[in-house]
Amino acid sequence: MSGASIAALTADAAAPPGTPEVSVVIPVYNEEPGLAALFARLYPALDALGRSYEIVFVDDGSRDRSVVLLREQFQRRPDVTRVVVLNGNFGQHMAIFAGFEQTRGTKVLTLDADLQNPPEEIGKLVAAMDAGHDYVGTIRRQRQDTLFRRVASRAMNRLRERTTRIRMTDQGCMLRAYGRPIIDALNESRELNTFIPALAYLYARNPVEIEVAHEERAVGESKYSLFDLIRLNFDLMTGFSIAPLRVFSLIGVLLSALSAALVTVLLVRRVLLGSEAEGVFTLFAIAFFLIGVLVFGVGMLGEYIGRIYQQVRARPRFLVQAVLIAEPVRPAAPASGDPRLSASADIRTAVATGAAPPGDAQTHR
Ligand code: UDP
Ligand code: MG
Repeated sequence: MSGASIAALTADAAAPPGTPEVSVVIPVYNEEPGLAALFARLYPALDALGRSYEIVFVDDGSRDRSVVLLREQFQRRPDVTRVVVLNGNFGQHMAIFAGFEQTRGTKVLTLDADLQNPPEEIGKLVAAMDAGHDYVGTIRRQRQDTLFRRVASRAMNRLRERTTRIRMTDQGCMLRAYGRPIIDALNESRELNTFIPALAYLYARNPVEIEVAHEERAVGESKYSLFDLIRLNFDLMTGFSIAPLRVFSLIGVLLSALSAALVTVLLVRRVLLGSEAEGVFTLFAIAFFLIGVLVFGVGMLGEYIGRIYQQVRARPRFLVQAVLIAEPVRPAAPASGDPRLSASADIRTAVATGAAPPGDAQTHR
């Protein structure tokens, strides 16, 4: 490799000058009563960080005066404020996606508009990113929600741990920070039903979880009904695992095996003792076996459909962290001959790291 310098093209390459370091994305849906309080705490908290920042508000089709308030705030602080107004109500996660597309920062945070995630905690997340983490999750200290929400959410956490490879202590807290490469990958994911913290986790290289404070909703009420929460958890489960489809293959195998055993028992019995109840049970055994085959068939279909489903989501399959390429050294003064033609200049070694096969993209925890 003599005569060749190694150029490392890392995904964390410095941002062009003028772009803010920290981007904060906030989805807003009918939050008119609380926005003034949010502005009053958010901007001072970010000013106090002493870093360049931008705030991207996304109005998710609010039917109250939220948009008006956001526009007024934009006029007050146009240097650090961006407002995306969606055409209708597309849901919190789609709103955040829309916000991500407008972010420029190397550290991107998400925050709820209802002040349940105190803006004063942003500094902690940014510090964790400075320490080298590209995904900062959060755990709510003394979660301020109803008992039902807490119990249900603990049960769903456990189910997710079992069915997916995503490890999160507290999936519900949206105060999170992501590095630029993750955001770029998310922007390429064209998913309709997804859960951003889980999706981002797939692309995280060095995730960490920290504790943050959690407050009661300042004003207004939760925008999530029980039905929304159920749908969200289905999104989480079906979006990151095909376990529900797999269940059928397993049941089918089990059923076939059991009924095969039953057929054997009945056959032996018939030889030794003669037919039982005029062969009715033999008929049952055969029927069970056929049902087993059928369920297994459904499971097989599920396996194919699961693969089709994973394929059509067209997620980025992996994230490359760095590429090492041998480049010819350019001489200071024109030396004898073109250096690009010298033997060493032909070296084209590309060492790609991080390019894990699709299924292994989430193995680092
Ligand atoms: N939100 C949104 N679109 C929706 C529902 C909610 O943009 O369809 C926003 C909402 O304005 C808030 C955040 O998502 O900023 C979290 O919503 P909420 O506080 O109602 O959820 P909870 O805290 O009860 O889980
Ligand atoms: Mg809330």
